Amino acid sequence: MNLELDGKVALVTGGSIGIGYAVAEALAAEGAMVAICARDERRLEEAVGKIQGAAKRKVIGIRADVTRADDLRELVARTEQAFHGIDILVNNAGTGSAEKIEDASDEKWYRYWDLHVMAAVRLARLCAPVMRARGGGVIVNTASICAKQPLDYEPIYNVTKAALVMLSKCMANELIAHNIRVNTVSPGLIRTPDWDKTAAIVAKQKGISSDAYLEGIAKENAPIGRFATPAELAKLYCFLCSPLASYCVGSNYYVDGGWLKVAE
Ligand code: NDP
Repeated sequence: MNLELDGKVALVTGGSIGIGYAVAEALAAEGAMVAICARDERRLEEAVGKIQGAAKRKVIGIRADVTRADDLRELVARTEQAFHGIDILVNNAGTGSAEKIEDASDEKWYRYWDLHVMAAVRLARLCAPVMRARGGGVIVNTASICAKQPLDYEPIYNVTKAALVMLSKCMANELIAHNIRVNTVSPGLIRTPDWDKTAAIVAKQKGISSDAYLEGIAKENAPIGRFATPAELAKLYCFLCSPLASYCVGSNYYVDGGWLKVAE
């Protein structure tokens, strides 16, 4: 299937590792020009090098913290400068949390609000006019199954991802008038460095291997009985970013191996 992504310009936040990396790599393999951002410059450079190896067109890395409005302005300006426009925005940077509502500070709530919600608001505000000038565009927001089916240990994550799902819907309704399609992807268990980091800590405490710990999590939660790879998930992003997904607007797509316990 030709996804017609050749020559499109894509900006992927949190593109240095994990899901964002896999999405950037898959878009680049389809012929898109890709800009990725993250905070850690070394990992960013490594990712650009790896993606560029298999890419048809140019890939760039721009250091940016998506919780900072100034960084986002710079990110969009530099992407535009490099590629003369933006067609695709993937709001992906994010991370889990661990707290009790009784103990968590206001500061922590606001930090995650900036990370999961305001980054998407600000980037949409910056990118929509650029996309409009090119006749349209696509925005894909990475939420989580936790927006619907909360995990007990991370209320701030659950709440801010739920807000992102609603933001995405409102954005879709507003921006489709300008031929900008907005959708959400809500992953379940995807084996990324984020999970490997958690697994290394918990598995050590339990005296088991990381693989055994993660296998247990998957068997306990997802009917499919395993984690997905980031590359598996990235295929859906590519489709949603493609002109072939022309009637996909304002939806939230679960990719969770059956983990969601209600019909959606
Ligand atoms: P990883 O921790 O593996 O990767 C996160 C990426 O985001 C890195 O590139 C990281 O780079 C970047 N990032 C984090 N914070 C910021 C920031 N403030 N500014 C810029 N970049 C940032 O995470 P995953 O790939 O697992 O997760 C990606 C997204 O998918 C997240 O939004 C997550 O909530 C969501 N998700 C993941 C699931 C999973 O099972 N893995 C399930 C459901 C949702 P750096 O640290 O250098 O900034």
